[in-house]
Amino acid sequence: MSGPFLVAPSEGGRFVRRLSSVTATRESISLGPTVVAPPKHLMAPSAASEVAAAMEVARHEIESAATPGTPITPDESAVSSDYAYAFDIDGVLIRGGRPIPEAVEAMKMLNGDNEYGIKVPYIFVTNGGGKTEAERCLQLSQQLEIEVSPGQFICGHTPMREMADLYKTVLVVGGEGEKCRHVAEGYGFKDVVTPGDIIKDNQDTTPFRKLTDSEYAASRARVFSDIEIEAIFVFADSRDWASDTQIILDLLMSKNGRLGTRSETFDEGPPVFFSHNDVVWSASHDLTRIGMGALRVSLESMYQAITGKELKTTAFGKPQMGTFQFATRLLQQWRKDTHGIDAPPSTVYFVGDTPESDIRGTNEYNKTADNQWYSILVETGVFQEGTTPRFQPKATVNTVLDAVKHGMEREYRKALKASMQATGVITDE
Ligand SMILES: [Mg+2]
Repeated sequence: MSGPFLVAPSEGGRFVRRLSSVTATRESISLGPTVVAPPKHLMAPSAASEVAAAMEVARHEIESAATPGTPITPDESAVSSDYAYAFDIDGVLIRGGRPIPEAVEAMKMLNGDNEYGIKVPYIFVTNGGGKTEAERCLQLSQQLEIEVSPGQFICGHTPMREMADLYKTVLVVGGEGEKCRHVAEGYGFKDVVTPGDIIKDNQDTTPFRKLTDSEYAASRARVFSDIEIEAIFVFADSRDWASDTQIILDLLMSKNGRLGTRSETFDEGPPVFFSHNDVVWSASHDLTRIGMGALRVSLESMYQAITGKELKTTAFGKPQMGTFQFATRLLQQWRKDTHGIDAPPSTVYFVGDTPESDIRGTNEYNKTADNQWYSILVETGVFQEGTTPRFQPKATVNTVLDAVKHGMEREYRKALKASMQATGVITDE
């Protein structure tokens, strides 16, 4: 992350309060209110009593049945549900809007269709966005033939919800049509401006882009000479880099976020936040496509070329630690609400396709987390055969189904070993 500062405006509109982004992220993300509060009707049916009862039986069976010399058979009694999964989506479960064939089977396996007869809790942690969490979950439910609740889902812009109280007027960039404006308003942002609003107010802003009739109708009439835009949030991938870049640069070079002004010192503009930093991603094309991280790099270098100054930006999403802390809280709540387990899992298997975000983030988080975060790289996304990933996963497998099997088999072996040690069949090394 190249942006060490989170800059928040004071009441007078001058950008004076500077915090370390590490502190700010932890304060605003980790210690904030619970971010995802799924409506009851969107929650998956609770399997709490069923799973809790099965666990009790399993624990009892492990303790009583494993006498010295008695090999344990892989039935439902020999399994603990003391672990969980977290999945990246693009390149792992979905590619180009379609489920990866093995993904449906992998989900079934987690929901009990496995040789151990257990269900394993899981959540989804994607850097993608551009829709509300509820919308994205409905879509994912259909694609994967399971019920996905917003209570088990984090997307790139989810952590931005906790910044809604920090700023009054904000520019929200990216996504289709008005969707990201609605997402931001749903998060509690009080006054959300889009690039369309700015072009509607002054169409000379973007010489080569005219709003379509429907864009013009959807954009809001504002008088920007009277408005201070206090922060810029890139929620989802820009659909028009040239226009969006022009508008972001105008604001960054302005006096206190007032369009039409130019700062003489180029340090009076609003802060800019990106929902993630993935430079490339896996879409339906055979080769990777450029993403939001590429826009960030481009913006930073353009700012330097024009002003001679370094632009400090902030990105959320994986591999930022705040996102993993957030995932920990979500997983804990999800396990409690739906499985009746009121303790963190001892191991979380994180399955992703991007070494720079999924694997790097998981490995880094594992260094400080109280439990184990175990990274698994799948080869169905941005992975290129014959290359060595910059960040090494604990395991590399072909598909998400192999990743689920890998974790389950590893847990089975761990439980088996533990019970054999407990009963004296083997001793600690
Ligand atoms: Mg991915």
